[in-house]
Amino acid sequence: MSSNCLFCKISSGEIPSQKIYEDEHVFGFVDIHPQAKIHLLFLHKKHTANINEMSTDPKAIAQMFHGIAEYSKSCDLATNGFRVVTNLGADGGQSVFHTHFHILGGEPLGHFGRR
Ligand code: 5GP
Ligand code: ZN
Repeated sequence: MSSNCLFCKISSGEIPSQKIYEDEHVFGFVDIHPQAKIHLLFLHKKHTANINEMSTDPKAIAQMFHGIAEYSKSCDLATNGFRVVTNLGADGGQSVFHTHFHILGGEPLGHFGRR
């Protein structure tokens, strides 16, 4: 838990969220400003700032994707398909500095690129 981190506070329950998944390591919840019909955020409960920092802990990465797989297989997401996005730094558009993965779906998504 990193003091003053919004997503540490959300995953610990200190700040309320619409939780859709939780296991020992991973927490999933609904994004407050959805960019697709389904827009979820998945994070590891152990605080890291971004995927490069998280990459020093391969176990955390495995646990992260295990959580995403477990959740997506439990509902229509894995059947119909979805997109996983993670942003890093200013050019990546990262605004919350606790590593998280956007899960987008619930409708066909266009290709992506520059805005
Ligand atoms: P980033 O821009 O860092 O890749 O993604 C941060 C995401 O967190 C954004 O999509 C934003 O809508 C979402 N977000 C920011 N604050 C909150 C909040 O308090 N609750 C929830 N559920 N989502 C948030
Ligand atoms: Zn944090």
